[in-house]
Amino acid sequence: MSLLFTPVIGLEIHVQLATASKIFCSCSTDYIGAVPNTNVCPLCLGLPGTLPVLNAKAVEYGVRASLALNCTVRNATRFHRKNYFYPDLPKAYQISQYDLPLAEHGFINITSEDGTLRPIGITRLHLEEDAGKLVHGTSDGRLTGASQSFVDYNRGGVPLAEIVSEPDLRTPAEARQYVSVIRQLVRYLGVSDGDMEKGSLRVDANISVKCSDGRWGERAEIKNMNSLKALERALEYEIKRHIKMLSEGKIIIQETRHWNDSQGITISSRSKEEAHDYRYFPEPDLPPLVLPDGYVKEQLDKLPELPWDRKRRFKDTYGLSEQDSATLTENRDMADFYENCLISGGSPERTANWLRTEVLRVLNENKMELKDFPISSHIIAEMIVMMDNRKLSNTAAKEVFEHMIENSSDLHSAMSLCDISAGGIAGDQLRDLVSKILEQNNDVVRVIRSGEDLNGKKQKYLKGLVMRETRGQADPSEVSWILASLLENN
Ligand SMILES: [Zn+2]
Repeated sequence: MSLLFTPVIGLEIHVQLATASKIFCSCSTDYIGAVPNTNVCPLCLGLPGTLPVLNAKAVEYGVRASLALNCTVRNATRFHRKNYFYPDLPKAYQISQYDLPLAEHGFINITSEDGTLRPIGITRLHLEEDAGKLVHGTSDGRLTGASQSFVDYNRGGVPLAEIVSEPDLRTPAEARQYVSVIRQLVRYLGVSDGDMEKGSLRVDANISVKCSDGRWGERAEIKNMNSLKALERALEYEIKRHIKMLSEGKIIIQETRHWNDSQGITISSRSKEEAHDYRYFPEPDLPPLVLPDGYVKEQLDKLPELPWDRKRRFKDTYGLSEQDSATLTENRDMADFYENCLISGGSPERTANWLRTEVLRVLNENKMELKDFPISSHIIAEMIVMMDNRKLSNTAAKEVFEHMIENSSDLHSAMSLCDISAGGIAGDQLRDLVSKILEQNNDVVRVIRSGEDLNGKKQKYLKGLVMRETRGQADPSEVSWILASLLENN
């Protein structure tokens, strides 16, 4: 009988909270690109005689994320010291939460392959401080031929929310989806930029494999995955490794492994610490954290509409497809931009179509964020309204749109500079233009009139010439109609 293997995956996600200052001191959290060891003070350097003061904003962001993850928020909690010796930690302990995390017992839905929602349990969310960063290189700044290690404490003390999932995930694809849902959520809530490449969202995976004969391999903790793709690849690699070992009757030991993205393998780094190795004890320099009455309720009331609720509303209210609703609610700025276009009069479907194709294309091509987009939602809406009222064709709108992007100009000056008039080309003006084209293409007209254009290709060719001449400012069905009537009248 062949053996069946079931992967069991749980994730720990560290989310850097987007506060202006660190969690226990007033140093800036803006460390990317900063000169090493400039965003530091005696406290976050762990010097004696300093006392931590908890950042209220970090608590607010933590509570907000906890509530959106359907967790129960603890009204009274406390901090512990987690002791370990590593040069990125100046105090030789990290202030974290242990037995009384900020929040517990939540869940978040992911979508299964068959389209049904599947809840993934959230064990806990707790607050802690980030560690510094080790940089390996030489003292003149060269990072090759690393002969020395340097430590930069700028990141030390940046607030983190650690979100621990239940071991509910079964496949690498599910794990990837779970992380992308969490990332979307923290961005919607405005509590983190959730950028995996920059390290503001970091994922560690715990994985073990259960065998149908009752054996169950020890879990491995996988670190150092800097993108969703890397997470998926690392888990795929680990599942294969575990299955191979179990199939060969080998024992899997509990250990921490590092993902090496360029080689596509995980490498054992150390045996996993047990909790008692950290010698946790309550942080004596911080009082217990007791949330004021009504605080949690107040935060709950302040939560924005969550991405999945907004997606459902876009589908139900505006009649958008599943795909369009998902694309437009992927981030909050885009969803806001869309709804602002509608407030300014754009029709739901055409606006959705225009944003999904044209606006997103420009953003992707220029690696631009919506907040830097040169055209306001009001102007996009104005253009959509003209298209809705057939005063501007799709082709002409695209030309005007490109012009506005390049010159950051308003709609009407872009139209006049592109020599496009509202209302387009129609009626007698269009009839004259078609006549002119027919005169210029006498030979083609003769073929059509003699009945030799059996598949209508020549007539389509003439229509193409007219549309090109009008630069898309004519209604295609009107062109067809005029063309047919002029070709008949000879
Ligand atoms: Zn500091």
